[in-house]
Amino acid sequence: MRVLVVEDNSELVVLLTKALERAGLDVDGVRTVADAEASLRAMNYAAVVLDLGLPDADGLSLLDQMRRRRDGTPVLILTARSGIEDRVKGLDKGASDYLIKPFATEELIARLQSLLRRAPAPEGHVLTLGNVALETAGRQTSVAGKPVAVPAREADLLEVLMKRNGRLVSHEVLRGQVFGAAQGVSSNAIEVYIHRLRRLLTDAGANVQIHTIRGAGYLMKADTAGAA
Ligand code: CA
Repeated sequence: MRVLVVEDNSELVVLLTKALERAGLDVDGVRTVADAEASLRAMNYAAVVLDLGLPDADGLSLLDQMRRRRDGTPVLILTARSGIEDRVKGLDKGASDYLIKPFATEELIARLQSLLRRAPAPEGHVLTLGNVALETAGRQTSVAGKPVAVPAREADLLEVLMKRNGRLVSHEVLRGQVFGAAQGVSSNAIEVYIHRLRRLLTDAGANVQIHTIRGAGYLMKADTAGAA
């Protein structure tokens, strides 16, 4: 299982990484909210350990973004802020747990393992199309019942396409729902993600197709048995 550590104190990152690796976890460490966003887009993590005082933004803004896009990955907050207000704010925004600095690494490991043992966020539901299933909260994709590792961006695309079930999804909608309207993502970039998603699905033996509707967008359909 892979854990993302978002912490700008490099000594603490080294300490945490060692402790987490001893506990059998793989660790990616990043220092900023921007880098954390990039990592979350590229990889599925079992949990996130999140510092609040980060150089580019408040860690809570990352948590907020994750929960807005219904990313239910458990988040354990590390904070030097002992005020009750900050704790409430973090839990309000969907933090799974928090630890006040300074803390013993043993306690962090114990809390994290307890989070990892818990079932994925209960508010999710399962979308299905053909033999493809996507559990929306934990972002777990499976084909014919077998789990398939789909990176976060491709999973977002998959969710939008599955929800539309055979109907056209325009470039504009994909851009808005998957990439956020502000980011100015080109149609070519979307095509690249679609291409990767197609390949992942095909390699996994999915019986669905993502059709490109030139100049308009995409639609995803289940193969019809015996269709010509
Ligand atoms: Ca900090």
